Amino acid sequence: MLQMQTLRTLAALEREGLVAADPRLAEAAHSMAIAITPEMLGLIDRADPDDPIARQFVPSVAETEIAAEELSDPIGDDARSPVKGIVHRYPDRVLLKPVHVCPVYCRFCFRREKVGPGGEALSAAELEAAIAYIRARPGIWEVILTGGDPLMLAPRRLRALIAALDAIEHVAVIRVHSRVPIVDPGRVTAGLVAAIKPRRAAPWLGVHCNHPRELAPATRAALGRLADAGIPLLGQTVLLAGVNDSVETLDQLMRALVTARVKPYYLHHPDLVRGTGHFRVSIARGQELMRALRGRLSGLAQPTYVLDVPGGHGKVPVGPGYLGDGPGALLVRDAFGETHRYPG
Ligand SMILES: *Cc1c(COP(=O)(O)O)cnc(C)c1O
Ligand code: SF4
Repeated sequence: MLQMQTLRTLAALEREGLVAADPRLAEAAHSMAIAITPEMLGLIDRADPDDPIARQFVPSVAETEIAAEELSDPIGDDARSPVKGIVHRYPDRVLLKPVHVCPVYCRFCFRREKVGPGGEALSAAELEAAIAYIRARPGIWEVILTGGDPLMLAPRRLRALIAALDAIEHVAVIRVHSRVPIVDPGRVTAGLVAAIKPRRAAPWLGVHCNHPRELAPATRAALGRLADAGIPLLGQTVLLAGVNDSVETLDQLMRALVTARVKPYYLHHPDLVRGTGHFRVSIARGQELMRALRGRLSGLAQPTYVLDVPGGHGKVPVGPGYLGDGPGALLVRDAFGETHRYPG
């Protein structure tokens, strides 16, 4: 059998029976590139018109509906970019975005208007300027490689980039954020694992995973190779209507992450990305889901529910509160819904 390839066109999706011919889909496809890896394609249940895997990657006519509050730069990256490829919002850490390509294109992506094969990687000179920016600022304690997906770099280039950052004494932590181990686990070879690992700085890897079915055996094995290499793993999930906005799905996802040796880190409230209203959930609903998880799941499996404040103001926890004011005492609500007095 031929090696399956990533699906990249509407015509390919039509051949697979994932979309019907519809001229309005061309507009959706035009607004963001398409990519569905063989692994993700293999997880789609064709009999389910609301399949949660398909919903993340298959373009929809709903993407052409732009609401007034939606933004082209929803988390304000542009306002915080002192040099190309760097976003510097917090004094002690920077984002470094070496590439704009991804192994899949998630229709709800918060960098939807930046990612894709059209947005080119940093040139060698631009990357050197970004590294020089970090080198010149001793306050930068952590560098977060993101993108696009930094694990789309060839292992040789990734190794050179990690080594250059590792050579900067004040960089104590090198964190990589990627969807590759989830959606294209075969890419996590021994060579790639070795390339990610700095000699001196502490490595961390955040993986983006939204549905328990994404943690198929090959993905679990890839995560195991990373964990065995001594790279601590964090999970990032986007709360998405029709994908994971139920207690049962989030319960299964968080448990599946922990058993794959991934610590759930953030549950992201969906950003105000243009054309993604069909994925949005209210913050009240997100809080209700978090409250339910608190009573059901191990502390290991609890993510922090966060909102990236539009305009480049950073992330804040928006989970439910458990404390209220009572007469002469605080009122604490427990995870099972009962309220108790606590001397304030
Ligand atoms: C999300 C983000 C970070 C990392 O935030 P943590 O809370 O440390 O995970 C850093 N810089 C920017 C600009 C970000 O958007
Ligand atoms: S992999 Fe990440 S950066 Fe790429 S499209 Fe998906 S959410 Fe966006």
